[in-house]
Amino acid sequence: DAKRSGRARSVVYANALGAASRRMHTVEQALREGLGQGQFELHFQPKVDARTLLPLGVEALMRWEHPQLGSISPGEFIPAAERCGLIHELGALALQQACLAVRQLPGLSVAVNVSPLQLMEPGFVASVEHVLVQTSVAPSLLHLEVTESLMLEDAQSALKRLHALRELGLQVALDDFGTGFSSLAYLRAFPFHTLKIDRSFVRSLTEHADARAIVNTIVQMAGVLGMRTVAEGVETDRELAVIRAIRCDEVQGYLVARPMPLGKLQDWLAGRPITGPQDDVDSRIMP
Ligand code: C2E
Ligand code: MG
Ligand code: MG
Ligand code: MG
Repeated sequence: DAKRSGRARSVVYANALGAASRRMHTVEQALREGLGQGQFELHFQPKVDARTLLPLGVEALMRWEHPQLGSISPGEFIPAAERCGLIHELGALALQQACLAVRQLPGLSVAVNVSPLQLMEPGFVASVEHVLVQTSVAPSLLHLEVTESLMLEDAQSALKRLHALRELGLQVALDDFGTGFSSLAYLRAFPFHTLKIDRSFVRSLTEHADARAIVNTIVQMAGVLGMRTVAEGVETDRELAVIRAIRCDEVQGYLVARPMPLGKLQDWLAGRPITGPQDDVDSRIMP
């Protein structure tokens, strides 16, 4: 009997696995097609000054609306694109759309998420420079967000790329800080302008004194290293109060605004004074 129920269970597993891999296959096929058919569009979520709540910039987040499959989340299609090699094309599209958006958003920076696979492509820095020139966007207005996994793969090459981007005048943020394994040594060695504190930390801030102590220390340490800090995923007034108390520089989250299409963002921005991006850390101009 145990044998039989064991077998039944493994049939259930096999079916579930089958369904998961069919879905993966479907999504990868659809990606290829969707890229050709313009199904991808950036949405934008404001980042605001923690004290004044005035907008400083936006983060660009890719959205995919498939005619049959409906909306598919980046959590699903970004890894799929990474697996099947389409991340480079998708990433180039994001950079292109982001630079076009910069021109519609005077005084604001636009931050684009970059996959480690993209950043490690030999031609990446040149392609970024090309898009900037082609769209005549000032490099200081384009920010890139990378995650910790980048530094673990091939730290030497990653460091070279980040320096080249900095030379070009871009700002680079370390995304999802606190979820990976980055050590303090990495933070000192890598030329990040900004540290984005992951929302899992933000979430625990109001409940656990130790989480609060950790984030407080992170913010102070970032200050010592000359980095700005952004709290991700701030949803409540209580979270905002704690974030302010520990003097985090910027806030992003549903409490302020959700990601939205460019047109909606422009409505949202109307009537809000724009103080401009904070590039006080290093502001080089491209030749
Ligand atoms: P991320 O870069 O950490 O982006 C922040 C995510 O948190 C976004 O999810 C955003 O919609 C969500 N978020 C913002 N505020 C709140 C909040 O208050 N509460 C909650 N619960 N969530 C909030 P999204 O858009 O689903 O993107 C997920 C991830 O997919 C991003 O995480 C990023 O790593 C990746 N991604 C999105 N667009 C791109 C892209 O164009 N290229 C690459 N390589 N990755 C992308
Ligand atoms: Mg991000
Ligand atoms: Mg993040
Ligand atoms: Mg994230």
